[in-house]
Amino acid sequence: MFEKILIANRGEIALRVICACKDLGIKTVAVYSEADRNSLHVRFADEAVCIGPAKSARSYLDIPSVISAAEITNVDAIHPGYGFLSENANFAEVCETSGIRFIGPKPEVTRLMGLKQQARAAMKQAGIPILPGSDGIVGTVEQAHTVAEKIGYPVLIKASAGGGGRGMRIVEHPDELPNLLAQAQQEAQIAFSCGDVYIEKFIKAPRHIEFQVLGDEHGDVEVLGERECSIQRRHQKLIEEAPSPVVTPELRREMCERLATAMKEVGYSNAGTVEFLMDEKGNLYFIEVNARIQVEHPVTEMVTGIDLVKSQILVASGEKLSDILPKRDLVPRGHSIECRINAEHPEKFTPSPGRITALNLPGGIGIRVDTACYTDGVIPPYYDSLAAKLISHGANRLEAITRMQRALEMFVVEGIYTTIPLHQRILAHPDFISAKIDTHFLARMFEEEGKKL
Ligand code: ADP
Ligand code: ADP
Ligand code: MG
Repeated sequence: MFEKILIANRGEIALRVICACKDLGIKTVAVYSEADRNSLHVRFADEAVCIGPAKSARSYLDIPSVISAAEITNVDAIHPGYGFLSENANFAEVCETSGIRFIGPKPEVTRLMGLKQQARAAMKQAGIPILPGSDGIVGTVEQAHTVAEKIGYPVLIKASAGGGGRGMRIVEHPDELPNLLAQAQQEAQIAFSCGDVYIEKFIKAPRHIEFQVLGDEHGDVEVLGERECSIQRRHQKLIEEAPSPVVTPELRREMCERLATAMKEVGYSNAGTVEFLMDEKGNLYFIEVNARIQVEHPVTEMVTGIDLVKSQILVASGEKLSDILPKRDLVPRGHSIECRINAEHPEKFTPSPGRITALNLPGGIGIRVDTACYTDGVIPPYYDSLAAKLISHGANRLEAITRMQRALEMFVVEGIYTTIPLHQRILAHPDFISAKIDTHFLARMFEEEGKKL
């Protein structure tokens, strides 16, 4: 087992990893930028190293700085969290060559999953249904026309290296194709330093359903059920839940079995998520793999009782899944919902960094809060706007909703804007309560309210 782990991240996920390490009796090293000097992950880690200025390119994304911090503190392993270096295969390789265990899949698997059109090909090969689309990269307008004619409009142009909902263009009509293709390529180049794009059939009102995967270093893979993440804004998740209200026990069993086989075939290890879209007829189509722990992992933890971050550390240290997972059928226990509370204006969505002047974190039965916020703490303007994850658990979906409503009401943050009022509106909406949701739910809600999204 590892003696000391460095956490190459900040905010709530850095704290989450510190919690798992404390539960395992492992010492922790925090890294921080100059803007995060007073952060809770710095305070609660056993050691902390400043790795550079506020800008993430010069701190949390700076591989030499992170590796030096790991070397001077003599850690056995690095946990990358999500975002930042978590899906950077080069970083995983540098860790391994420096004799430090990277807590994640093997670099070659991360690399394959990071190129979405290649991940599509690999999953298709492994027998998982993918959306109709291009076989690989679409480089020219002619190629794009041919693919789009074949699969039928509307189509979606997507960045091969895409993430965070960026770099996508919907094409309704062939006339728009040349312009939108150029725009997508340009945006992808700027955002991801790779202009490669591919084309997928655009699903009009999909539900986003994803499966939690966990693999060990001995070739074993388990799939721990699904989450539904259909409440989104600009292709970014706002609310997630487990289980999905539309996945039957039969479908769950079938998908978990098929995915376990497919992920064994690609040599997947550690935690990961396989994302799907469900069309109006209930068919599931693969869209991408996130080769890391996800923001919304707590809802799976709540309904399975499995500590996913602890499991990541255990499998990375060589433990077998069969020794660490409970020996029972993984039937979800009750229902869990997560609201991402962002430091943003709840209607305009403009970032709202600044000092938190007063804070009341909700609690009580069935409530969990994952956050690095505290009274007088500052949310810096340089990073993601996620301020807290509010997670509820109940015997069924309705109880999880009621508890979430109660917790949202008792969640007080002063000094900055947060999306708490937005979540209250969503949680009170009859379509949310009756689970009539798809990825356009929020746009419809804003339209009903006469507001612009
Ligand atoms: P999740 O399903 O875990 O929320 P996201 O795609 O939203 O996955 O990504 C999680 C975090 O990583 C977010 O903070 C997001 O902004 C960030 N992120 C994802 N992809 C990238 C990327 N390619 N470059 C920079 N940040 C990214
Ligand atoms: P990212 O890497 O940015 O997370 P994804 O491929 O996971 O990209 O897609 C993010 C979101 O974009 C999905 O949850 C869905 O809302 C939307 N989306 C992606 N592909 C399609 C598609 N083919 N049809 C309709 N919506 C899509
Ligand atoms: Mg995604």
